[in-house]
Amino acid sequence: EAARTPLMAGNWKMNLNHVEAVHLLQKLSWTLQDKKHDFARVEVAVLPPFTDIRSVQTLVDGDRMKLKYGAQDVSVKDAGAYTGEISAAMLSKLGCTYVLTGHSERRQYHGEDDALVNAKTAKALEAGLIPIMCVGEGLEIRKANGQVEHVLAQVDAGLAGLKQDDVRKVVIAYEPVWAIGTGEVATPEDAQEVNSAIRARIEETISPSVADSVRILYGGSVKMASAGGIMAQPDVDGCLVGGASLQVDEFAGICRYLD
Ligand code: PEP
Repeated sequence: EAARTPLMAGNWKMNLNHVEAVHLLQKLSWTLQDKKHDFARVEVAVLPPFTDIRSVQTLVDGDRMKLKYGAQDVSVKDAGAYTGEISAAMLSKLGCTYVLTGHSERRQYHGEDDALVNAKTAKALEAGLIPIMCVGEGLEIRKANGQVEHVLAQVDAGLAGLKQDDVRKVVIAYEPVWAIGTGEVATPEDAQEVNSAIRARIEETISPSVADSVRILYGGSVKMASAGGIMAQPDVDGCLVGGASLQVDEFAGICRYLD
């Protein structure tokens, strides 16, 4: 198996004002420091709302925190008359490392389709950000056992036209929609089934070396108690964590799954 550094990313969604964000991040940092967390061994990132990113940047820089941060969405446009949008260059200027693209809540509530997710993923890469591109099937597809086919189509479309060296940088997050915010966790075997299929697809369509280095996360109601079993799967290279990332002890516990 390749040396893929696991990534634990906390998606705060639309929660926490900037004071709350600073408190949570400070506590998280202290908790991980207490445990002498080795950030080179397990990478940790938080994905706050746009309005918190400047505060997060100040804290991370000021305290020389090793954790990374990013945004939950990015505009497909560079600049101009796009009211309400935030560009990749703006995020990059704020020191963001990561940005989510194609989160199921964006797909569901904002009508984002694969073509837009593809364009956002490309735009993020162009600005030097690492996209965490989310894919995953809904309950109906899962019931019909169509998850692999569905997810592979999303992966193909999401990565379409990207250069090999760019695909290598992308993080893919498999997030079964029926497991997001529902308390319903996929089994480790469910995660492995789809994650290994994604890796095999990239091996086939891009290259074995890219497939070997690309990180594929699992997301969907991950908790401290379930992280170890999921991370034990050979093709799971980290977790995208929603609800539990707002609780310091839970999220720190997920980051410390090796303990
Ligand atoms: C998410 O938002 O990406 C997510 C996985 O949420 P939760 O952990 O709350 O299911």
